[in-house]
Amino acid sequence: MIYDHLVVRYGELSLKGKNRRHFESQLFETVKRKMRPFQGLNMSKHFDRIVIELNGQSYEPIVKSLQDIFGIHSISLAVRAENDLEAIQKAALIALNEAIEGKKTFKVTGKRSLKSFPVNSMQLNQEVGGYLLRNTEGLTVDVHNPDVNVKVEVKDTGTYISSKSFEGAGGLPIGVGGKAMLMLSGGIDSPVAGYLTMKRGVRIEGVHFHSPPFTSERAKQKVIDLTQELTRYSGGKIKLHVVPFTKIQQTIKDKIPSSYSMTIMRRVMLRITERLAENNHAMAIANGENLGQVASQTMHSMYAINEVTNMPILRPVITMDKLEIMNISHRIGTYDISIRPYEDCCTIFLPSAPKTKPKREKAIRFEKNIENLEELIEEAVNDVETLILEEGKSTDETFDDLL
Ligand code: ATP
Ligand code: MG
Repeated sequence: MIYDHLVVRYGELSLKGKNRRHFESQLFETVKRKMRPFQGLNMSKHFDRIVIELNGQSYEPIVKSLQDIFGIHSISLAVRAENDLEAIQKAALIALNEAIEGKKTFKVTGKRSLKSFPVNSMQLNQEVGGYLLRNTEGLTVDVHNPDVNVKVEVKDTGTYISSKSFEGAGGLPIGVGGKAMLMLSGGIDSPVAGYLTMKRGVRIEGVHFHSPPFTSERAKQKVIDLTQELTRYSGGKIKLHVVPFTKIQQTIKDKIPSSYSMTIMRRVMLRITERLAENNHAMAIANGENLGQVASQTMHSMYAINEVTNMPILRPVITMDKLEIMNISHRIGTYDISIRPYEDCCTIFLPSAPKTKPKREKAIRFEKNIENLEELIEEAVNDVETLILEEGKSTDETFDDLL
């Protein structure tokens, strides 16, 4: 093992001139927090990258953990050499041999950030490339589509040579995009929506509507576990607001024609989520809504439900096929939790045939049947149970902390 450094590169950050410093410091904070379990690392922030000195630690678990951080474009394994051409050539040879694994072509991409270094970028390519050709057998240079790209970057702290890279999560660093309340049902779609919302740099807090005893503790635990899984990407803690929804569900069942109960229930959920957003300084609501064929997913339905709020609603999976959403949920680790069989509040109370094309005017009219709706909403908001989930802590530990 020759690699002693990781070079962490930002992607889109380079495009955002003015906000750049803010973005970078948010990202650096997240990286530092994420690296806490790994002892003995040295981290430093540079113009367009973070350099992590491994100090003897193996890189695999560290790279894996860095791949969960939004705003990171790529992670390269690097070896550091002194700023001396001969030392650079030797290190480049080791890095090339490490990565070539039977492949045939390479190129050298030199970059001289330290202007006082006597060899410029172009000359670096030639001097290092020539040395590699002389000291290997059967390899050729391919500048357009090489099997291995040996990157050589001369900086004031030394020269970093890398030949192996891993893809980062992309997106923007968490915390640069405000906060949204994520409506989290326990299904497959809403955790994916949460992941994609965070990918744009937006912090999330979860909101879950729970109707005990019609929905079980295990259904609630499922949502807690999903939130816990999402903390991997959140750069720290995520709050989860569990809203007591039984009384409202029962009232809807008693007072609303069953073909409209789903529409009214959704309108009430949205109102409550908006209140929670205001109380917690969030400026948007995110959910797992999708345009589809079932009643809760038609555009008519969305039109009749959305009316109750002016707050932006982010619907990251709106255009995706179920299979695309499932693929993401596998990748981010939420799928196995989402498919646990416990019912959520909606499935239990709802009729088998809700209207696929509810009318807004009718929804408004039926809703008037519930004279104390405002009171019920206020009560639910006041009785919310808020949990705080934190990466790396089991849910039990987190609860102990709260007691
Ligand atoms: P999901 O897979 O996320 O459950 P879905 O395909 O089952 O979505 P619906 O059941 O129509 O679709 O729900 C649409 C969205 O409404 C969910 O993605 C979620 O954001 C929100 N939602 C539904 N039920 C709840 C609930 N009990 N608590 C919080 N949000 C909910
Ligand atoms: Mg659902």
